[in-house]
Amino acid sequence: MKVYTKNEEETKDLAKRIARLLKPNMTLLLEGQLGAGKTTFTKGVAEELGIKRIIKSPTYTLIKEYTDGKLPLYHMDLYRMEDMEEEDLGLEEYFYGEGVTLVEWGSFMAEDLPKEHLKVLIKVNSETGEREITLDAQGKEYQAILERLSHE
Ligand code: ADP
Ligand code: MG
Repeated sequence: MKVYTKNEEETKDLAKRIARLLKPNMTLLLEGQLGAGKTTFTKGVAEELGIKRIIKSPTYTLIKEYTDGKLPLYHMDLYRMEDMEEEDLGLEEYFYGEGVTLVEWGSFMAEDLPKEHLKVLIKVNSETGEREITLDAQGKEYQAILERLSHE
């Protein structure tokens, strides 16, 4: 499924529509270049979950937990993982925990990510600044989300 967004608000709106369909221990893998809108998308999900704390890219922490919303939100930025030796960070506890996990730069440790997930690939149109957002579901529960989105 593809969606085009013209500005930050439209990307957040898409994120909110998806957030309404999320259940505990679901995982979203956010892909796209620096500045594409991965953190913006995460902010939309957080708003919909009623999280009041401000979402910032967790560049220096790898993982941030937000537990003041309807569901816990785990926000990972694995960018720095590139330089790390394979380490057991206990990420499974997040993936298979009570909350939803959003992962930026998951490609740096792809083999440890859940096989079932929703991939959100954000591409920037360098001429118009528009974002082309491709949603790709792996697994039945995630396919069901896309199914519902497409009928809204
Ligand atoms: P990333 O986390 O992918 O590095 P950010 O979400 O931090 O990217 O930054 C995206 C930037 O692009 C923000 O400054 C945002 O306002 C801007 N922007 C412009 N158009 C869009 C759009 N359609 N969707 C998302 N962000 C957009
Ligand atoms: Mg970011």
